[in-house]
Amino acid sequence: MNALETKSLTLAYGDQPVIENLDHCFPKGKISVLIGSNGSGKSTLLRSLARLLKPRKGSVILDGKAITTLSTKAVARKLAILPQSPECPEGLTVLQLVKQGRYPYQNWMRQWSEEDERAVKRALKITNLEGFEERTVDSLSGGQRQRVWIAMVLAQETDTILLDEPTTYLDLSHQLDILDLLYELNRSEGRTIIMVLHDLNLSARYADNMVVVHDKTVYAHGKPESIITPELVKRVFGIECLVMKDPVYGKPLCIPCGKGRRAEDENLRAVDTQ
Ligand code: ADP
Repeated sequence: MNALETKSLTLAYGDQPVIENLDHCFPKGKISVLIGSNGSGKSTLLRSLARLLKPRKGSVILDGKAITTLSTKAVARKLAILPQSPECPEGLTVLQLVKQGRYPYQNWMRQWSEEDERAVKRALKITNLEGFEERTVDSLSGGQRQRVWIAMVLAQETDTILLDEPTTYLDLSHQLDILDLLYELNRSEGRTIIMVLHDLNLSARYADNMVVVHDKTVYAHGKPESIITPELVKRVFGIECLVMKDPVYGKPLCIPCGKGRRAEDENLRAVDTQ
């Protein structure tokens, strides 16, 4: 079963194609992580999956229907997206922002309800933001602010959550907090998570499915163990690396050694060939 599917999908800006003729399935209930070099088209692909970017050709299929045939609210009840570096109007409180996540459920007949109240409270609890409701978002630290955005996305209560680099600008501890939270949501509630991450090793730790965007397509996809190889890293990122088994999680651990600190690199290669 797939959460999202692309069929002969071509995405472009002007006459520059970014993704060409892509057929790909994002499995339901799994964590898929998009990786690839800067400018390879990860954000573009993610935005198209959320209907924020219209395909030049082909389509994105959500629950068996072309996403372009669904209304904005219908899409927003099925999937939520947290774009890269979202901007929050000055002075907005945490509660006000998280409440925005409930807009797909409101219309002129149905105003704010107990169900909305429950969803917002729950989102604040899961993200550890109880007690922060009246703080303004701009007064928070980077890690707290990112949690507020995630709370907004969670309040939307969708089966699928898309996130574009949700850990950017966070220190390692806060990166792990966010990734653990998403992992927990996936494992305990079966939410489908599709996200762009930069850190290859964290991607390998958290992904069920890695999706490598390269050469205007999904160049490779599968379990981290089969994706992270020195050949792929060389091809996609243009660097030499060693790939070892992470001693704690057993996932592939990529140790770049083709750039910088070259003398030590030679030592590493020597170790590798022993
Ligand atoms: P990634 O997320 O992998 O870094 P992007 O999807 O942001 O890559 O960008 C893919 C390509 O599309 C890049 O060459 C980028 O310059 C270009 N691009 C991205 N957004 C726009 C835009 N709004 N207008 C024109 N070109 C864009």
